[in-house]
Amino acid sequence: RAKADGRSTHRFFESQMDSEQRERRLIEADLRGAIARNELVLHYQPLVSAIDGLPTGFEALIRWNHPTRGLVPPAEFIAIAEQSDLIVDIGDWTINQACMAAAEWPDHLTVAVNLSARHFRRSDIGRVVQQALRHSGLASHRLEIEITEGLLIENPEEVIEKLGEIRALGVTIAMDDFGTGYSSLSYLLKFPFDKIKIDRSFVEASTNDPIARDILRAIATMAKTLKLRITAEGVETAEQAAFLSEIACHQLQGFYFARPLARADLPAYLLTTFVGPKQALIEPSQALA
Ligand code: C2E
Ligand code: MG
Ligand code: MG
Ligand code: MG
Repeated sequence: RAKADGRSTHRFFESQMDSEQRERRLIEADLRGAIARNELVLHYQPLVSAIDGLPTGFEALIRWNHPTRGLVPPAEFIAIAEQSDLIVDIGDWTINQACMAAAEWPDHLTVAVNLSARHFRRSDIGRVVQQALRHSGLASHRLEIEITEGLLIENPEEVIEKLGEIRALGVTIAMDDFGTGYSSLSYLLKFPFDKIKIDRSFVEASTNDPIARDILRAIATMAKTLKLRITAEGVETAEQAAFLSEIACHQLQGFYFARPLARADLPAYLLTTFVGPKQALIEPSQALA
């Protein structure tokens, strides 16, 4: 009897896996036409200065505006896209879209784009970035590329060379989700990053955990020594924002300041950050551009 149970349990998991695989294949097939059908969209989350809370730029975050599934978050389709060269088309599309959007913003605002490791490996990424800048007319110092350290694990020499090409264009390179991997520190020495983005798990923990606060202080000190800019992500409370600016993080990002916004909502958001002639970083007329 136990044996029979084991077999049916086994069959249960097998059919479970089959249906998950079928689901993935369905999503993949559907995703293939998504760019052509104009279903992919970028939302933009503000990054603000830790000094005055005013926006310094936006991070582009992809969503899939699916006709029946609704607005699908990246966690549900980027990994699937990464299993084939679909991620190359999606990645190229994202860089181009983000540059074109940012070219219409006031000049002091930057745009950050997340690059997947497989896209990075599979394409001539330096050329893709250069063409996106040329085509959009965006100044290179206004573009930031966010990568995770996972990218550097395999074949680091080739990756470092490609990153160097992008950086030579004047583009900023940021290490995303800093602190979540296994060897963040050694990678900081292998490649000259401009910026680190502290993962939101540390920010979240800092509320109740004094050790998390000590770690954040230590990261901030290290970043200063290495002359790295430092952004904290996932800031959800005034208390976290105050602590992070006290330890000299340069930039803050999180729901406390703003959620990711649709492109069409950016002018209205920028207007709300207009705080009067003395502190104004942007003119209202510019914000509407
Ligand atoms: P990420 O690059 O670390 O982006 C930050 C994520 O944290 C975003 O989730 C953002 O909405 C979320 N977030 C921001 N502030 C807060 C906060 O205060 N609290 C909480 N709980 N969450 C916050 P999202 O948009 O779902 O993106 C998830 C991940 O998907 C990104 O993590 C990035 O790794 C990936 N991703 C997003 N867009 C792209 C893209 O265009 N290409 C690639 N390859 N990956 C992307
Ligand atoms: Mg990111
Ligand atoms: Mg991140
Ligand atoms: Mg993260």
